[in-house]
Amino acid sequence: MWTKPPPRDMVRTSEPALICNRPAIARPNVKVMMSRQKNDERLFEPYDTAALTKFRRRLKAWYAKRARDLPWRNIGDPYRVWISEIMLQQTTVATVISYFERFTKRFPTIHDLAKAEQDEVLRHWEGLGYYSRARNIHKTAKLLVEQRDGVFPQTTDELTALPGIGRYTAGAIMSFAFDRPGAIVEANTLRLYSRLLCLEENPRATHGQKVLWAFAEHLLPRKNIGPFNQSLMDLGATVCTPNDPNCPECPLLPHCGAAAADRQNEIPIAAQKPEITPVIEVSVAIQQDDRFLLRRYPEGQRWAGLWDFVRFPLGDAEALVPSSGLSAAGTVPKKLISNIKQSVHEATGTDIELDRFLKEIRHSVTRYRISLLCFLASAEHATPEANDNLAWVTAEQLDDYPLSTTGRKLAVLVQRSQPTLF
Ligand code: SF4
Repeated sequence: MWTKPPPRDMVRTSEPALICNRPAIARPNVKVMMSRQKNDERLFEPYDTAALTKFRRRLKAWYAKRARDLPWRNIGDPYRVWISEIMLQQTTVATVISYFERFTKRFPTIHDLAKAEQDEVLRHWEGLGYYSRARNIHKTAKLLVEQRDGVFPQTTDELTALPGIGRYTAGAIMSFAFDRPGAIVEANTLRLYSRLLCLEENPRATHGQKVLWAFAEHLLPRKNIGPFNQSLMDLGATVCTPNDPNCPECPLLPHCGAAAADRQNEIPIAAQKPEITPVIEVSVAIQQDDRFLLRRYPEGQRWAGLWDFVRFPLGDAEALVPSSGLSAAGTVPKKLISNIKQSVHEATGTDIELDRFLKEIRHSVTRYRISLLCFLASAEHATPEANDNLAWVTAEQLDDYPLSTTGRKLAVLVQRSQPTLF
């Protein structure tokens, strides 16, 4: 059990100050210059066999009353566990539930998923973001069906060899679907473990990850591993929350280093945020007769496999956009119009007439804060031929194509501008 460390000013300077039960490195001193490995071992000291027994008992009692009821739980189906865990990466449970239900209704088995066209898989993923996840599950489904008749392997090494399955997802499949030993460290448990250990370093950096994975392994019981891991995730999600964790209600309070040191709001140590770069991009819905030009993003590009209207960064031409921005009622500077027409010609070989500015959509991708200027345009002549990565589609057919999130927003604007259809 953790004991509260003495205040810093009460610690004799000749001894290492105990903060979070770890020696603080105040100045060079042989006693405190212990190896990193020894430090890591000390972190686990409060979790000896007797403490772990109490830890698991307390957690089990809490989980019996507070387990979340989620559609992918307690069904022992590796396919559904896998789909849900991939969807949950970078995405909240509340958002995932409806996607998961739609996805598994359309692709109820791994065989159904393997048979599907990639466009349809992406269409069912549309809006969830991080589309490489969808491409990878499709690849993995095909591979497992071809090589193993759709049967999932039951070892971490075999699972992590599959596209898009990392150590966490493998641990989740192993423990939730097969009740086999599989450690987990995801967003909720990363925060929970960091606080339990009072980890005073970035838990996402290489060494922090090493410590947390070793801790996750150390905590695992011999049986009922699935419910044990789920209870840790639920506790992280509902009690040990990012802000103001509810420590008085936490069953692991007696085991928590951060709570003992009153440092719950400082831990986990935040990673340095990347500098945000503002950029301006343009998206043009080019119409010819009743059809619009769509292009598919190639492999290796952001949104690979998804379709979109003709989109490009303005680059140096950003200076042509008035500092007050554009408005649907206002005029677009002539030089900007000619720059956009030129860029569209270079990208597609199509000459256009820019009909009107529709809307500015603001969104962020990684470290970029993007202002996307959306236009409606008419193709004049010499339009490109349709092929696997280029299509001319009616406003109605836009519903059938997997589009980027901003592409979908522009599609809705385009559909609304077609009075005969909607
Ligand atoms: S005691 Fe508080 S900080 Fe520690 S694990 Fe529980 S909720 Fe998190």
